[in-house]
Amino acid sequence: MTESTPYSFLPTSKKEVEALGWGQLDVILFMGDAYVDHPSFGVSVIARVLEAKGYKVAVVPQPNWRDDLRDFKKLGRPRLFFGVGAGAMDSMVNRYTAAKRLRSSDAYTPDGRPDARPDRTTIVYTKILKQIWPDVPVVIGGVEASLRREPHYDYWDNCMKPSILEESGADILIAGMGEKPILQVAKAYEDGTADSLPRILMGPPLTTEELDWVYELPFTRLPHPRYKGKRIAAYDMIKFSITTHRGCFGGCNFCAITAHQGKQIQSRSEASILREVEALTHHPEFKGTISDLGAPSANMYRMGGRDKALCAKCRRPSCLFPNLCRNLDHDHTPLLQLYEKVLKVPGVKHVFVSSGIRYDLFLDENGFLDATGKRYFEEIVTRHTSGRLKVAPEHTEDHVLAAMGKPSFKLFERLEKEFRALVRKRGLNYEIIPYFISAHPGCTMQDMEALSKHPALRGVRTEQVQDFTPTPMTVSTEMFHTGKDPRTGKRIFVERDIAKKQRQKSFFFKKR
Ligand code: SF4
Repeated sequence: MTESTPYSFLPTSKKEVEALGWGQLDVILFMGDAYVDHPSFGVSVIARVLEAKGYKVAVVPQPNWRDDLRDFKKLGRPRLFFGVGAGAMDSMVNRYTAAKRLRSSDAYTPDGRPDARPDRTTIVYTKILKQIWPDVPVVIGGVEASLRREPHYDYWDNCMKPSILEESGADILIAGMGEKPILQVAKAYEDGTADSLPRILMGPPLTTEELDWVYELPFTRLPHPRYKGKRIAAYDMIKFSITTHRGCFGGCNFCAITAHQGKQIQSRSEASILREVEALTHHPEFKGTISDLGAPSANMYRMGGRDKALCAKCRRPSCLFPNLCRNLDHDHTPLLQLYEKVLKVPGVKHVFVSSGIRYDLFLDENGFLDATGKRYFEEIVTRHTSGRLKVAPEHTEDHVLAAMGKPSFKLFERLEKEFRALVRKRGLNYEIIPYFISAHPGCTMQDMEALSKHPALRGVRTEQVQDFTPTPMTVSTEMFHTGKDPRTGKRIFVERDIAKKQRQKSFFFKKR
């Protein structure tokens, strides 16, 4: 154990460990992404959390798994355990398109190299570590491990697979947000009580104070110097972004965020966010623009049920679908106040919100739900987008939307009407950009044709469509695999033919 690290990054090589004067490391973390010391990168967060509690931690980003495995041996044996995380995405989603083609670049790798991590990264790294160091425990975590914690359907091999804990041979799996469980695990290995731990540990939601502590750890917010002169696309996207909260209660059937981050919103305090903004203004490349003040759904900051006892008993997967829960406090005032204060921080010129927003939190088919929702919409459009409001109706056909767990397209039509009225009134030449998903269970070729010809989309620039990818642990993936809607038990149409899936997507680009 050590007081603090004099080196500004956690060490990644023997030389860096020696420069710190450290002897044996306590924990060595292997990761499928490049090492960017930023709170948006999960393994970096875990490394900082362990470091802050006095553990000697090293990080091995993107080890070579095809040579003599020297990257897995170079730092020796840790005193407590190895940690393995595939990175910010499931490795199969990272490496393959929905059409199962290898992607040509990897946003989380320097210069986009597409071959810096193996398929099923968590399993490959863990097996290698177990082969070299059979008696050292391996703890796995991150999105890939979290979403594959239970037996699950795997789209890429088109079969059911056991828990990744069994497939990898790891000792412990941390599901969800790992800050609290990793400390629990470290202490248990230190005390010799790890045998009493469950093999799968879930992260209770963090309190505001705990979340503030995590985000205010001494991240440099920079890629490790070993990448000097190289570009990491994912870092470019997030380097001037700030996370306001975690979790999402939207419950979209195709999305795995709830399975990983939880349905309960965990918000940072205003003061902590403002401190981070202030620190960001000293970043050597900061020019005054915060690219995203957001979260999985940007406008859920400080929202949740009014009566917490009701929420504790609640079994609804979504607080928004099929209707807005009457117990849900959807007041946008805290977020509006936050935007206002962030804009007043010296050095900040623009604050954009590029994370998705849930417009059913402030609008229904008849108009705005309340005055704060109307003000939020006006603020977002006029001050917090760079002229393009990106929203995700996901489809136009209501039976497909119902399969997705999304509200009727009428809501988008209403939003579009409000948007046009607002930009006309303010004299702004702004656009609304809708996002869609093709080939979701329930969606036929005719449904995509109907989408492509929908009158409400005439004159609207539609440039974003995603071919549905069945990722583990979502309701939509269960529909894809079984051909049934698990909510009703009824059969549902599923397009599984890859060529036809791609044809569905191509409808979207037909001229209207
Ligand atoms: S009671 Fe309402 S607000 Fe609370 S969790 Fe359930 S749906 Fe959400």
